[in-house]
Formats: sequence, C-alpha cells, structure tokens
Amino acid sequence: MATYIFGHTSPDSDSIVGAISLSYLKNQLGEECIPTRQGEISAETAFILKTFGGTAPELKTSVAGEKVYIIDFSDYAQAPADMKEATLLGIVDHHKLGDITTDTPLECWIRPIGCSNTVVYEMYRSYGVEIPKDIAGMMMLAILSDTVIFKSPTCTKVDTKAVKELAKIAGVEDYKALAMEMFIVKSATEGASARDLNTRDYKPFDMNGSKVGVNQLEMIDISALDARKDEIFEDMKKMKEEEGLHTMIVLLTDIMKEGSQILVVSDEPSKIETGLNLKLENNEAWLDGVLSRKKQIIPFIQPQF
Ligand code: MN
Ligand code: MN
Repeated sequence: MATYIFGHTSPDSDSIVGAISLSYLKNQLGEECIPTRQGEISAETAFILKTFGGTAPELKTSVAGEKVYIIDFSDYAQAPADMKEATLLGIVDHHKLGDITTDTPLECWIRPIGCSNTVVYEMYRSYGVEIPKDIAGMMMLAILSDTVIFKSPTCTKVDTKAVKELAKIAGVEDYKALAMEMFIVKSATEGASARDLNTRDYKPFDMNGSKVGVNQLEMIDISALDARKDEIFEDMKKMKEEEGLHTMIVLLTDIMKEGSQILVVSDEPSKIETGLNLKLENNEAWLDGVLSRKKQIIPFIQPQF
C-alpha cells in the first residue's frame, strides 16, 4: 500500500513541489510514495510545473486509514478533516510546531529556514540521492517563492546555497529573472473574485480556542488592489461569519516596497493592535519591512490569545 505525501490546505508552491520532491526521494529510497494535494493549483504553481515539465499531484482530501507524510505544515487546521484517522510517518517542515500528534514514532525534519524544499534538498544530500533536473528546477522556484527571492527574513544561507546548487542542476543561469517572471504571474488579480483573493494563500490557526484566519497576497505592486479594498473587506466579513473566525486578517504584501498592508476584521481588534504594536485606521495599517506571516505576524498575535 502506497504512502501519500501532501502539504497544507490552500496549497502554495512549497506544498505542491514539496509533495513531488519528497515523494521522488522516498521512492528512490525504496518507499512507495504518491504526491497528492489538498486543493487547487495556484497560477504561480502552474507556472512552476509548466516551466520544468512537472505534473500536478492528484487531489486527495480524505486520508482515513492511509499512511502519510506531511510537508510544509503540522497543524490540524491545515490538514484533511480525517487526519486523526491516518498513520503519520513523518513531518518535513519549516514552520512553528503545530498541534498534530501521533501514536507511533515518526520521522521529523523540521528546521527554522526559508522553505520546506530546502529541507528536502538537505535530505537528498544526506541520503546521497541525485536530484533530477526537472525536480531541481521546481524546488529552486519553490524556495525563491517562499523566501521572496531571498528578501524574506526567513531566508537563511542554507536557502541561498540550495538555490544556487539547484539552479546549476536545472541548467538555469538567471534564476532571479525567472523568479521575477514567477512573481508577475503570482501578482495577477484581474478576473479574480474577492473570495478568490481572500483564499489564495489562506491559513486558519487555532489560537487557544479562537480561530484566526490569515491570508497573504504577495504582489509586485499592491496598489493594483486599491480600488477593490471595500469589496475585499466585505468578503472578509463574510468569511469571518462562515468560518466562525474570531479574526480574519489579509496581508497585502508588496515585495518591491518590502512591507505589508494589513487588513483586519476582528471581534477584538485591540488584540491585533497590541500584538503587532500598531494602530488600525479604518481597519488597516502599513507594516514596513513585514514580508513573513510565519515569522513576523503569527508569533506576535498568538500570545494575545
Ligand atoms: Mn506553504
Ligand atoms: Mn513553505
């Protein structure tokens, strides 16, 4: 019986490419593994797959009775609803440790670095397994996406070194130019509904019994959304109702200005103001230098709950 490998809900490129890269490694090591995904492929991930001739993993949202590895998360809130009925063999991740637990011993590769695919890269090195050209290219772009082309405070020397090595294997000379092309694809918002935007990179967190949802849109120029603010706020209120959230946050991250506009709909906005040391005006504020949800937002909000 094959083992399934998948990333978080609302999968990003790290989750999709990580399922692919980790499955290939496990298969080389003699463990039959199949990469899967919990949701739709984003435009950015489609660009990565197309550029290097990759295939999208199959959609799988139920894992009861299966053996699984998870990558790029360890929270039940970001897992399939029946995750507790699966046997978790291992976690590969670069986030805070979540609430997922196991009855049996498990393999853990968790490091405070810029991308799960950098962790996978280190695993290939440690097992002495060669990385195929196409997978190397996809891993390289996943790392450049998660680290915002090395600008994110989550980026480490391990990540930059991995990108350089992977670019060599993939035969890519100007990896920064290719990454900019990827971010232009990621920035496109024409034709997307407010709900599409609000769920594009959405993560729910259980904060001591309160549900907090945080969506992040990484764009080359966030002013493209100025005219749609009201619509985005209206939909945030709807999502808050539908999901039973205490707080719904949208981060409009401008990767060129290197900061984020934070939009907040909350039962207690003061928790967000105190945690992030900011003053909301019309439910929003500019956070200079903030590019990372996991490093610059979540650790400061969580203690308020
Ligand atoms: Mn991710
Ligand atoms: Mn990641």
